[in-house]
Amino acid sequence: MRQLWFLGADALEWRDAPEPRILHPEDAIVRPIAATTCDLDVRMIRGPSPFDRPCALGHEAIAEIVEAGPGARFHIGQIVVVSWHISCGYCHRCGRGKPNTCAHYPRGAAFGSPVSDTFGCLFADLVRVPHANASLVPVPPGADFVHWASLSDNIPFGYEMTVPHLQITPGADVLIMGGCGSVALYAVGFARAAGAGRIDYIDTDRPRLEIAQKLGANSIEQAPPRRAGSYAITVDASMDADALRCAIRSTEPEGQCSSVGCHFGDVEMPMMDMYIRGIHFYTGRGQGRPNIEKAMAYLDAKRLDASLVTSMVAPFDDAPDVLASAPMKAVLIREPIHSSYR
Ligand SMILES: [Zn+2]
Ligand SMILES: [Zn+2]
Repeated sequence: MRQLWFLGADALEWRDAPEPRILHPEDAIVRPIAATTCDLDVRMIRGPSPFDRPCALGHEAIAEIVEAGPGARFHIGQIVVVSWHISCGYCHRCGRGKPNTCAHYPRGAAFGSPVSDTFGCLFADLVRVPHANASLVPVPPGADFVHWASLSDNIPFGYEMTVPHLQITPGADVLIMGGCGSVALYAVGFARAAGAGRIDYIDTDRPRLEIAQKLGANSIEQAPPRRAGSYAITVDASMDADALRCAIRSTEPEGQCSSVGCHFGDVEMPMMDMYIRGIHFYTGRGQGRPNIEKAMAYLDAKRLDASLVTSMVAPFDDAPDVLASAPMKAVLIREPIHSSYR
């Protein structure tokens, strides 16, 4: 069977890999049917990045169950979202709703990850999913799951950066510093769907600005200013140090500033500014699994149109060529074998 390998900037290829087998009763074997790139993957392909070395690529996919261990609560043909973090589901951290910090798997354990390549990738013919009961989320029948492929990571990340904060401060104004790609745009869509007041989206990329406008933002084409205004909720999804500092300086007293990260080096932060006003700052790789159902409910109710973020849809087999040009969000698809979902 094939796995997609990232070899270095703009270079990808299918490589043969051993067929995965069920190793534990709760394992499942899945066949990805709609897989896409995370913003980090695109950044790696465009290069340079600290991960500029060969690795199996891809950690976002909707997949079909092709085999389930006796302890896995899934049936053949079921369509599921594969959460990108590897987590057990029962340790004290998973039990606290933080599977991204699972005590049984070391830092960074994930599919298609340049920092842990034990678990294969989701641009593959078959994938073994450990702890399937904790990691797989069934997709409702009839769903147009092509545009939902990012539910593994970037879509729930956009949810996490906005919706829980809007539940604390309903109707708040939101600033989103774009640049990383899709997470910023999903964040715009979730902020609009969750009842934000004004949503300002700052970026220099015209196509992304247009998508953000369609998703409900006031798009502002400019390089990051020193400060953009005053917002209860700010999101840095820029991969740019100046944009991160702008988000921090634009956060109102006791407001929430979240960064999706991908700042690959140390970044100087305006700590005195943050201290004087009292800023709540969070960064991390995203909780993933706990927000998949919540984000999917927004998509299923058509409160957010994820198709606006999809750059293109292409045959699964064409992944190496399609992804070499690093489109923001290409979805690679193929028909399910066992399922009648479509
Ligand atoms: Zn990711
Ligand atoms: Zn765990």
